[in-house]
Amino acid sequence: MAGVDVGDVELEFPCPTCGGTAKAAIEAVRMLPVLDCPACGQRFGVDLEAFSAQVTQAEAAAKAARKRRKA
Ligand SMILES: [Zn+2]
Repeated sequence: MAGVDVGDVELEFPCPTCGGTAKAAIEAVRMLPVLDCPACGQRFGVDLEAFSAQVTQAEAAAKAARKRRKA
C-alpha cells in the first residue's frame, strides 16, 4: 500500500520580509518552491528543510486520522 497522499494539504510558510504567512498546497510547493507573500507581495523561496519537516508532520497527521477512521 502506498503512503498517505498529502499533496493537497495546505501548509503555511512564513515570509522572510514581513513575517506574514503565505499558504500553499504541498503539491504546488513540490513543483515550484517559490511563493508570493499575500501581505507584502514579496516573492520568496521556501525553506526546503523546514518544508520537508512540515510534510512529514502532515503525513503523520494523515496516517493518524486514517487509523482513527478505521478503528
Ligand atoms: Zn511578506
